[in-house]
Amino acid sequence: MKVVFLGAPGAGKGTQAALVSKRYNIPHISTGDIFRQNINNKTPIGIVAKSYIDKGQLVPDEVTIELVKGRILQDDCKNGYLLDGFPRDVAQAEAFLSFDKIDAVIDIVIPFDKLMRRLTGRRVCASCRESFHVDFIGSLQVCPKCGGTLTQRADDRPDTVAKRLDVYTEQTAPVSRFYEEHGLLHRINGDQAIEKVFDEIVKVLG
Ligand code: ADP
Ligand code: AMP
Repeated sequence: MKVVFLGAPGAGKGTQAALVSKRYNIPHISTGDIFRQNINNKTPIGIVAKSYIDKGQLVPDEVTIELVKGRILQDDCKNGYLLDGFPRDVAQAEAFLSFDKIDAVIDIVIPFDKLMRRLTGRRVCASCRESFHVDFIGSLQVCPKCGGTLTQRADDRPDTVAKRLDVYTEQTAPVSRFYEEHGLLHRINGDQAIEKVFDEIVKVLG
């Protein structure tokens, strides 16, 4: 099964992707995570990506498309994959159509005014990459799952979040309409408990 997760930053894509990846035994491919790994390792891609990510902008299409093209050819994608964070604009969606065929697109929708809090309260485990929220974990500084260190993403600070939400409205929201026209889009209400969102996604994916 080849699935794409759409949704604004903070909608819950990463949280749901971790669950879906486990349930269906397919790799969770987050372009944001791949960029952050490259930034940590100071690779040429990481150096380019950092200059855009720090400003809340999208990394250029040519860099991102090549990265995904290479990633989905890897062995672990033989039985499918889950893409989280790609495609992020219509040019990426069009390019993607030309090199692979997907089964479903899940668009996780939550009211826009809830996204700022979701993002500024997000804490991410540096070891297992799982996301948590201060509303649930308070001031805990170690990952409840693996004991790794919880960190706040640099681009989850309020000024960068505002820019990312503008970029979503202008460049990424049209991707939902693109997939709707292709008959692949399923909208899921992301403004409910994590388990309920997951149940709705499983109903769609079967
Ligand atoms: P995305 O990958 O779409 O940017 P995340 O999955 O990282 O979003 O979720 C953003 C924040 O919201 C995290 O702190 C996460 O723990 C929290 N979160 C995710 N899903 C829900 C939910 N259904 N209800 C409340 N908080 C959630
Ligand atoms: P995410 O982890 O999905 O929130 O992505 C973090 C940042 O990585 C984004 O704000 C972008 O700068 C960059 N990024 C992730 N995926 C893409 C993509 N498909 N196209 C361009 N930039 C991306």
